[in-house]
Amino acid sequence: MVGNSVLSGLGTTVFETMSRLAARHQAVNLGQGFPDDPGPEDMREMAARMAVEGWNQYPPMMGLPELRQAVAAHDARFYGIEADWRRETMVTTGATEALAAGLLGLIEPGDEVVLLQPLYDAYAPMARRAGATVRTVRLRPPHWRIERADLEAAFSPATRLILLNNPHNPTARLFSSDELALVAEFCRRFDAIALCDEVYEHIVFDGRAFTPLMTLPGMRERCVRIASAGKTFSLTGWKVGYVTAPEHLLQPIAKAHQFLVFTTAPNLQAAVAYGLAKDDAFFTGLSADMQRRRDRLAAGLEKLGFAVLPCEATYFLNLDLDASPPLPEPDEGTSGAPRDLLACEGLTEKAGVAAIPLSAFCLEAPVTNVVRLCFAKQDHVLDEAVARMGRTGIVDRAV
Ligand code: PMP
Ligand code: GLN
Repeated sequence: MVGNSVLSGLGTTVFETMSRLAARHQAVNLGQGFPDDPGPEDMREMAARMAVEGWNQYPPMMGLPELRQAVAAHDARFYGIEADWRRETMVTTGATEALAAGLLGLIEPGDEVVLLQPLYDAYAPMARRAGATVRTVRLRPPHWRIERADLEAAFSPATRLILLNNPHNPTARLFSSDELALVAEFCRRFDAIALCDEVYEHIVFDGRAFTPLMTLPGMRERCVRIASAGKTFSLTGWKVGYVTAPEHLLQPIAKAHQFLVFTTAPNLQAAVAYGLAKDDAFFTGLSADMQRRRDRLAAGLEKLGFAVLPCEATYFLNLDLDASPPLPEPDEGTSGAPRDLLACEGLTEKAGVAAIPLSAFCLEAPVTNVVRLCFAKQDHVLDEAVARMGRTGIVDRAV
């Protein structure tokens, strides 16, 4: 075989595949998760100015001091986390690089890694490439709860770390304090690390508050907290991420980072440092804005008879296919594809709306009755998606 055995067998990510299909059918793309607005103008202006007037050679490996200071100040302001920016923060090229460096830096071949399924599609390949054996904890619709029995089954003395994504993509869950306490209990009991993907920390709804796992008792020394300017500032193309972790965990992660990318574009780092210092209203405004969009899409779809699952956080809304009108079948569906993928292909091809099937986030016993729609879009785009879904005869057939 040519190439590494973990990576050679993989297909192209579902996000890229569905975006290509969306482009082919001129579909409204509610598949791949990204906002369709340009991001804060002042940050973009600052990035442009810094590119013209600022330093354009390698920034320090751990990140610009002003961004690292801003990360520590942000974590103190929102969560009361006291982090020493010199020893406990690092800038990465997106959360993705932080996850890769985290897994490469912390895992020894043969270690076990616990992942919550449905899972963000990068996790399992990256964990396996780092030499881990993956154990999954299944979250089940419609409540998608972390259950004690499932953690009991997944954790063992070989468990090195759990990768906890909270708020959770794609289920749109914000895990409750009970569920977080349960995860913390298992980490302490099995002396495991928690790699916390908290990129949607500022997109939470209905008055809920996000709590980093790191702030739970006994977890400060066990948690690696990862966040992203892509989500917080709607600047997904910038690929600026940041990590807060105790020094003993950050050091091995930095060793991986130095050989993966070494550093991240300096003008973007400077602009993100400026962004993180924005007043609280910016951050609460993001949640409020996304909540309004969630409600707009949910109301439109519910009016058409679609069953929308609860959405507590993130910018994803899930549809329960079992309780919804049938979606059109594709002419050229992937042969042998699970029902939710066929539904997404049919929706893209026939209705002109692209979505993501949840089976793409599963390693075993996939969820096949749920599809994900991204609502981080302008009102007219959301309205057009709803109008298209209403025009395809989907609704008539349901009545
Ligand atoms: N984690 C999750 C759960 C995500 O949804 C995403 C997607 N955008 C990422 C990580 C990657 O973030 P970044 O673009 O900053 O690499
Ligand atoms: N995180 C985005 C999503 O869940 C996609 C990121 C990507 O395309 N790699 O849709």
